[in-house]
Amino acid sequence: MIIFKQASEITSYIDNQRLKGKKIGFVPTMGALHLGHLSLIQQCREKNEITVCSSFINPAQFNNPEDFQKYPITLENDIKLLEEEDCDILFIPSVEEIYPENFEKKHYELGYLEQVLEGKHRPGHFQGVCMVVERLLSIVRCDNLYLGKKDYQQCMVLSHLIQSLKINTQINLIDTIRENNGLAMSSRNQRLSDDEKNKALSIFKALTYIKNNIKAGDLKTLIDNAETILIENDFLIDYLEITDQKLNTLLDWDGKTPLVVLVAATINNIRLIDNMNIP
Ligand code: AMP
Repeated sequence: MIIFKQASEITSYIDNQRLKGKKIGFVPTMGALHLGHLSLIQQCREKNEITVCSSFINPAQFNNPEDFQKYPITLENDIKLLEEEDCDILFIPSVEEIYPENFEKKHYELGYLEQVLEGKHRPGHFQGVCMVVERLLSIVRCDNLYLGKKDYQQCMVLSHLIQSLKINTQINLIDTIRENNGLAMSSRNQRLSDDEKNKALSIFKALTYIKNNIKAGDLKTLIDNAETILIENDFLIDYLEITDQKLNTLLDWDGKTPLVVLVAATINNIRLIDNMNIP
């Protein structure tokens, strides 16, 4: 695996490979890799001749300074895992490399996507996500981009970004990888104590409860019961909502519209998100 730290160097290497007709796949991450990330790498390897992973903790997308400061860093282990997966290239830029002095910040028009769920609860978050992904895609010009459905709203925001900027890359959405007990893998899980990890299972339980018990009609009691599962496990809930696939909140279901249940909740200042499709 080749490791690049300089944007200009990785860009010229990749452009050279593209000139040779090689297909480039790209998996952007914030490091602290787990099996969820590796599943993206594996899918990327299947469809592309060159697999690029980036590891960059993007300060611009953290609205909570403590979350940023405590974000886990496990670079040595990440390199080992990526080598085991035969990843071809790792890009680990500094903040100055991604946002040089002459970098021009701009505003992205995201419409309602920025006003609901994560957008509502993390002001500025998706602006930061768009900023880093636009910059990364200008450095790593890829044929295929790999994103995890665990960050469902982020997938929608980035699809919108790529369409509106007419960036020539195909988005590939990858299913959420979970622990055997259902807990969605997340870098932030590393910050949980064993007791908190057990309590964090309530997120999967709440989502599964909704999936197993949903019926056409009013959804309020169902959501209240699911929220109780989280509250009994010491979670503070940012949101637990049932939406259509475009993230419009539904309080009443016709029994047919495909749904997504999305949740964000905090335990001991550690914020976890998850979602589940119905059916
Ligand atoms: P992150 O490092 O958290 O920014 O995540 C990098 C990419 O990995 C994003 O596209 C995430 O959606 C994806 N990802 C994170 N956790 C999982 C998971 N448990 N299963 C599948 N993909 C994931």
